[in-house]
Amino acid sequence: MTNPTSPVRVRYAPSPTGIPHIGNIRTALFCWVLAQQTEGQFIVRIEDTDRSRYDADAEKAIFESLEWLGLGLDEGPGKGGNYGPYVQSERQQTYIDAAHRLIESGHAYFDDTTPEQLHALRERQRAAKQPPRYDGRGRHRSPEEIEESRKAGLPITVRLKVPDHGSVSFVDAVRGKITFELKELDDFVILKSDEMPTYHLAHILDDQAMGITHVIRGDEWISSTPRHLLIHQALGIEPPEYVHVPLILGKDKAKLSKRHGATSALEYRDLGFLPDAVFNFMCLLGWSPGDDTEVMAREEIVKRFSIDRINDSPATFDSEKLEWMNGVYIRNMSEDDLITQLLPFMERSEAEGGLPDSVARPIDRDYLKQVIPLVHERLKLLTEGTETLDFFFADNVNPAAEDLPGRKMDAEMTERALVAALELCKDVSPFEPEHLEAEYRALAEKIEMKPGQLFSPIRVATTGKSFAPPLFDTMAAIGQERCVERIDNAIGILRSAAATSAD
Ligand code: GLU
Repeated sequence: MTNPTSPVRVRYAPSPTGIPHIGNIRTALFCWVLAQQTEGQFIVRIEDTDRSRYDADAEKAIFESLEWLGLGLDEGPGKGGNYGPYVQSERQQTYIDAAHRLIESGHAYFDDTTPEQLHALRERQRAAKQPPRYDGRGRHRSPEEIEESRKAGLPITVRLKVPDHGSVSFVDAVRGKITFELKELDDFVILKSDEMPTYHLAHILDDQAMGITHVIRGDEWISSTPRHLLIHQALGIEPPEYVHVPLILGKDKAKLSKRHGATSALEYRDLGFLPDAVFNFMCLLGWSPGDDTEVMAREEIVKRFSIDRINDSPATFDSEKLEWMNGVYIRNMSEDDLITQLLPFMERSEAEGGLPDSVARPIDRDYLKQVIPLVHERLKLLTEGTETLDFFFADNVNPAAEDLPGRKMDAEMTERALVAALELCKDVSPFEPEHLEAEYRALAEKIEMKPGQLFSPIRVATTGKSFAPPLFDTMAAIGQERCVERIDNAIGILRSAAATSAD
């Protein structure tokens, strides 16, 4: 199917029963992109008719995820619009009315079969090795019998009459024509005994009432689509275009689940991913622009997105690729933007992955601006800001004695290197990268060590790490006084370790 040229009305219709899965949000994203491309509307509708599974936190997470990913809605809860309410539990009467209309037109009927009877039926079918299905017994109940059951407090549902022969077909925009034989289907419930509709009935009425042109949803719904077509027929309305998007699998080809790591957009936010990178990455889960381009700005995706390039086979979630892409986005950010994004992570408490609690908050933004260029290229996640930059902010670093020696250095040689380094550090001026480098190279020659041997312990002494940004830029940013303190401190650490081992 080529892309619609007139404005679409598309909806993201999550059920607030759990934190939205990345695959679920991916459908929201496709909807949003198509709405932007055609200058149509992106509508959010909360499908909360299963009251027993309603979860307020899930509903909150849905809106937070959309906001974080920048998927602004045109209509929906909290936003309003001409087709509200956009919460199904507030539309209950329209579903009840429609179910009753379908009974009157002979397409549906009240059923008083009890859960126990249904269970017994299923058991019999299982024993006879038949597929479990409702046997249509309610079709033969008279209004009087139903009334009696109602008075007796039995649960009454409404079921749609499914013809026992023939077929229904539809053209899926991704998979093409799909046909289902009706003899495979039983009469299914459209209104439950609590007078709440099932998903099947509710979403069709709402899509119709809200003028939805394209239903973009996960392909797990394909098998329910014949039911939806039958409801449309019974109501005498035209179905929308169906766009069933493929499942998302982990790299091991199993359905993406907790086992594979984070599965919700908000987890990715908390892990230090940028919304633009996640947006870009998620668009490529089941869609491709037709060439090898992977890194695409939102505007480019909106321009290039096309329904006919949605894949009909499952997408693979490659978390390493996501991390790589996040690194690309970080590298492409201005320093100021990066700082703005990093600060909230670095300012969290130490226990939550922020800088040591001893570092005063708010963090000195000007100083961060000075040191950011030293690490900008290397960052892949916003959460890495803390461990990559902590030594610039901490009062002190306390490396372990065994981390101080460089390659092929013993404790004695390391101490000699650090003592010489300390003396130079106290006097060297100006304390600037190029000058420091020249002076320390000369020092290495003087004390007959390879430059790398001298620099290693200095790096660990001043940063606490064996891998850190370029040494002399780092020392200059740490400042002369703190470098002196740290090298001195490291000598102390070495000496006390030597004393302990000599005891
Ligand atoms: N409430 C359904 C879900 O969360 C919506 C499916 C659809 O988009 O029609 O899966």
